[in-house]
Amino acid sequence: MNARSDIKEIKNAIRAVGLRATPARVATLRLLRQATSPMTHGEVAAELDENGVDKATAFRNLNDMADAGLLRRAELGDHLYRFEELRDGEGEHDLHPHFLCVDCGSVTCLEEVKLTVGSRKASEQVGEVSEILLRGRCNNCQ
Ligand SMILES: [Zn+2]
Ligand SMILES: [Zn+2]
Repeated sequence: MNARSDIKEIKNAIRAVGLRATPARVATLRLLRQATSPMTHGEVAAELDENGVDKATAFRNLNDMADAGLLRRAELGDHLYRFEELRDGEGEHDLHPHFLCVDCGSVTCLEEVKLTVGSRKASEQVGEVSEILLRGRCNNCQ
């Protein structure tokens, strides 16, 4: 087990944003840390069901942790909110892009893809970028 999924470390991360580290919140953040892509509320609730966390609690905890700045909520054009933990050094407006497969609906984090400084400046002329989304067919669907 790596340090990021260590229970003590997870509790510290939750307390660091001013929330109580309840067992349900710890289970939620642990799940998101183990996931390789952002998860919808439904996916989180289905997984936590086994831990005895009901749907409403799962939903409330996801939103509480997003409001506290621990998680980010992303809507990637398919009307589903997905949740993931903010990475180290990522601010709310300095986020990694996502790839959405138009066939299977899978979402992949693109940690290494960044807007260049010039592109960022150009986009600021238009408005504030809240999400960078690439759409296409994933390797499984081609
Ligand atoms: Zn696909
Ligand atoms: Zn991501």
